[in-house]
Amino acid sequence: MALLGTFLCCLLAAWHGCPGLGLPLAPGCPAPTVGQFWHVTDLHLDPTYHITDDHTKVCASSKGANASNPGPFGDVLCDSPYQLILSAFDFIKNSGQEASFMIWTGDSPPHVPVPELSTDTVIKVITNMTTTVQNLFPNLQVFPALGNHDYWPQDQLPISTSKVYDAVASLWKPWLDEEAISTLKKGGFYSQSVKCNPNLRIISLNTNLYYGPNLVTINNTDPANQFEWLENTLNRSQQSKEKVYIIAHIPVGYLPFSSGITAMRQYYNERLIDIFRRFSNVIAGQFYGHTHRDSVMVLSDEKGSPINSGFVAPAVTPVKGLSQKETNNPGVRLFQYEPGNYTLLDILQYYLNLTEANLKGESNWKLEYILTKTYNVKDAQPHSLYGLAKQFSMLDSKEFIKYYNYYFVSFDSSAICDKHCKALQICAIMNLDHISYVDCLKQYYGKYNH
Ligand SMILES: [Zn+2]
Ligand SMILES: [Zn+2]
Repeated sequence: MALLGTFLCCLLAAWHGCPGLGLPLAPGCPAPTVGQFWHVTDLHLDPTYHITDDHTKVCASSKGANASNPGPFGDVLCDSPYQLILSAFDFIKNSGQEASFMIWTGDSPPHVPVPELSTDTVIKVITNMTTTVQNLFPNLQVFPALGNHDYWPQDQLPISTSKVYDAVASLWKPWLDEEAISTLKKGGFYSQSVKCNPNLRIISLNTNLYYGPNLVTINNTDPANQFEWLENTLNRSQQSKEKVYIIAHIPVGYLPFSSGITAMRQYYNERLIDIFRRFSNVIAGQFYGHTHRDSVMVLSDEKGSPINSGFVAPAVTPVKGLSQKETNNPGVRLFQYEPGNYTLLDILQYYLNLTEANLKGESNWKLEYILTKTYNVKDAQPHSLYGLAKQFSMLDSKEFIKYYNYYFVSFDSSAICDKHCKALQICAIMNLDHISYVDCLKQYYGKYNH
């Protein structure tokens, strides 16, 4: 009888549209031990990609350069062929992993000169990607964030209504409620509760408003009043005892590959860090894209204690510039969290070895690493990541060598990060605000010359 009861109430839960893990089960149902969600980012579809003998004509995104070794799943000088993106989503669908939602942090159109796109083509590409996801995952709630390429001209995301905001508001309706749609239309951001995950809210920020190349927002202290809205939203969550996952395209903090450069304008970075510090007990994690590389960040309070974890997921596109030596293999990732309190437990990072896939003519997406196993850490929470970063900073740290290989999604295991490169990486992991970042470079490596 008890067994039958369990079966019936689970059946009922599934029937109510909450399949998989992380669902609130009726009393008597076995509680899931772990919740899971997918993170995909930077798809950068290049609709012109095709195999042809003239390698300058394989893809518009190579901008006239010879594609290096083009195959059915792409080329390192090109943005993603549709087949690569489809292989990523097919892998997710057939992975056997049950996830209760997906986050998708933007940048669907290709890297091509501004005159080669238009508002209509940008909307077409976002529509194509959205319908691809909706057709493959009709029952999955997906939380998108806009990227700097999800607009025309690129980077110029506006502070009020626009054709693109209207288009995505209508495309993303199946996943969002009315209030979310309304702020999305006005400023490209929203907050939304997560189905089957009580007391969990996603806040999708439009950090493209804070991006250096965005000329629309220069000298604007609170573009689209997003800061004010964010504080109010976090306040509400705090009062109603919700946990929040922050998702956005442009990350907070410093770029791990250059000295003293924040991903967004410094003023906006400081404001966001201040808000994230004040609400660190509400924010259970931060998830970003844009750099195309795999990196972690630990937000500390003013006294230096770790209080929040941030993760930049690697891109699906493998594209690189002609002068760049390294790029990333295509990647997608699965997060694990504790149902109920939403603390982050682990990351399962998956990737496609692009060279191998092109050679074989088939995509074999594989597990690249499991965070806790590869680094021997307890979980993905701020204290664990802080301890890991301390280990990275040791001379000849084997953990850091792994981290640097994963940074490029195992694209080139011979890539070497010298002392200066390592200082930038470590200081970017551990210091998200200006004062502590400058201090870090001075203190650990004494190489800060600004
Ligand atoms: Zn991108
Ligand atoms: Zn971007």
